[in-house]
Amino acid sequence: MADCLFCGIANREIKGSIVYENETVVVFKDINPRAPVHLLIIPRKHVATLLDLGEEDKGILSEIFSAANRLAESHGIAGDGFRVVVNCGPAAGQSVYHIHFHLLGGRTLGWPPG
Ligand code: 5GP
Ligand code: ZN
Repeated sequence: MADCLFCGIANREIKGSIVYENETVVVFKDINPRAPVHLLIIPRKHVATLLDLGEEDKGILSEIFSAANRLAESHGIAGDGFRVVVNCGPAAGQSVYHIHFHLLGGRTLGWPPG
């Protein structure tokens, strides 16, 4: 989608630290990391929020969680534990309206989140 920051990163029109990509998903480092490992996993398809995912997007979710597992392993955080987070809407603090799954790890993560 035009004027979408994360579409721009996925299409390499905007600079981003891409660490993994395939036909369906793109993974890049968060610009303001909140943990030693903080990656953002996005679908190439522009979907604004969790609420906008449809039945036809089930394959995307499967790819996203497969990527999360593989990246947790390759970044050395699978053993100790990690978190996958989606912020949906303003009260949750969503600031970019192209759905993204935060993969966080490398430190003890507090619960509940703020
Ligand atoms: P949200 O608050 O929407 O759940 O998360 C948006 C995330 O995108 C934030 O963690 C923020 O640091 C990250 N972010 C915002 N702009 C950029 C950017 O231009 N590049 C990268 N790599 N991450 C970004
Ligand atoms: Zn987008």
